[in-house]
Amino acid sequence: MANPSADLVIIGGGIIGCTIAYYATQAGLKTIVVEKNPRPTQEASWAAAGILAAHASTDQPYAQLSRKSLSLFPQLAVDLHQATGIDIELRSNGSLFLCFNQDEFQNWSGLAKRRQNRGLSAEILSPPEIEKLEPMASREIIGAVLFPDDCQVHSPRFGSAMALAAQLQGTRFICGNGVDRFLFQDQQVIGVTVNQEQIFGDQFVVATGCWTEQLTTHLEYPLPISPVRGQVVMTEVVPQPLTRILEGGGAYIVPRAEGKILIGATIEEAGYNKQTTLGNTLDLIQVAVQTVPCLSGAPLLKTWAGLRPYTKGNPYLGRLPGHDNVVVATGHYKTGILLAPITGQLISQLLTDQTPTIPLEPFRVDRHASSTID
Ligand SMILES: Cc1cc2nc3c(=O)[nH]c(=O)nc-3n(C[C@H](O)[C@H](O)[C@H](O)COP(=O)(O)OP(=O)(O)OC[C@H]3O[C@@H](n4cnc5c(N)ncnc54)[C@H](O)[C@@H]3O)c2cc1C
Repeated sequence: MANPSADLVIIGGGIIGCTIAYYATQAGLKTIVVEKNPRPTQEASWAAAGILAAHASTDQPYAQLSRKSLSLFPQLAVDLHQATGIDIELRSNGSLFLCFNQDEFQNWSGLAKRRQNRGLSAEILSPPEIEKLEPMASREIIGAVLFPDDCQVHSPRFGSAMALAAQLQGTRFICGNGVDRFLFQDQQVIGVTVNQEQIFGDQFVVATGCWTEQLTTHLEYPLPISPVRGQVVMTEVVPQPLTRILEGGGAYIVPRAEGKILIGATIEEAGYNKQTTLGNTLDLIQVAVQTVPCLSGAPLLKTWAGLRPYTKGNPYLGRLPGHDNVVVATGHYKTGILLAPITGQLISQLLTDQTPTIPLEPFRVDRHASSTID
């Protein structure tokens, strides 16, 4: 049988790879996604809490990217539902940052005022106002900031919908083994090998999350992406539901549509270890119970952990130096779910020689070499 070939080979079927596939097939590219797991979107993209928050008040490139991506979700949720029948559970109830001391309150209300001054939404709330919005929140809270534009999605559903929509548009998924080598002709990448099978392409996207450094080493440009573990605790449906995302004390509490509560997330350097640990989940639970005391009676359902792809500063979105037909899209760290739609659009524009609607310069791969940004 002939070796598979495509206009575009995407390595990594996380939410970033799948979203790029979705937009690239829409733009007419014959696309293959290679995913090392038996199914796409089972790593960080599955583990994520699904918070969509673009809080920064500035016009910095990352803040613009976040706001633009957030604005794409309502239509995308409709499109994905129509295409796949999967409801990604986009909820637009906002989030509430709860403060237990004056320092925290000053910090958060400072951000709220900066946002208000720039015409962005944020409301500073007193304890009675908090009680009215979230009656289950602790009475020890001295103030809060409401970000009414914050949303959430059900990350596993978002991943499934995006992968299925890409597939229905013609993307071929080759799952179960990872890319282990690149194939070259006259120093140009022409293909990859997967479990000794060769897959050929004109262009390639590396969207392998925290596994990117190893792969890009084969292209003599090792990108510094490291895994940062996040542990999460989930409770069964609780009798007194919460309405919106609550953050405070170093943890967040996310009420899912069906009433289960997700408590997250730790930030740990633990290599590629995805185990959950008693000590760290206990810390999360204690913060959650301090924030919403009635959660102490909530039945514990499960815990899990995922590995965020961390890099210093902005994610990498651009061509890999020395390889004109290889594009990198990774390093989204804590906000890859939020940034997936805009990443998919921009990378697809780059791959089809359109001018990206947001300049990619601040996200380019060799930015640290030139020291033009942090
Ligand atoms: C606990 C936790 C909570 C989070 N909460 C949020 C949140 O609320 N909001 C938000 O916006 N973000 C959140 N994030 C961050 C978000 O999940 C990530 O930024 C995002 O999922 C990264 O997507 P990705 O596709 O780059 O990586 P991944 O989802 O890790 O996908 C990379 C894929 O590449 C595959 N792969 C690796 N190597 C190879 C290879 N050699 N060949 C083929 N395939 C390969 C992997 O198997 C994997 O499927 C959270 C993350 C965690 C862990």
